Amino acid sequence: MKCNYCNKKIETTFLKKIVGTYLVKGKKKKIVCPQCQKTKDMKDLKKKL
Ligand SMILES: [Zn+2]
Repeated sequence: MKCNYCNKKIETTFLKKIVGTYLVKGKKKKIVCPQCQKTKDMKDLKKKL
């Protein structure tokens, strides 16, 4: 899986959980890596995704 914002690869844990977060935009789920989560504003991310 890749971050939908910066296109970096997102790792998954052994429990198959992603190291990152999901943003729901409309009916689509977008994935954001922890780095983008830290450095970008969530509202801003949602707008751009
Ligand atoms: Zn990212």
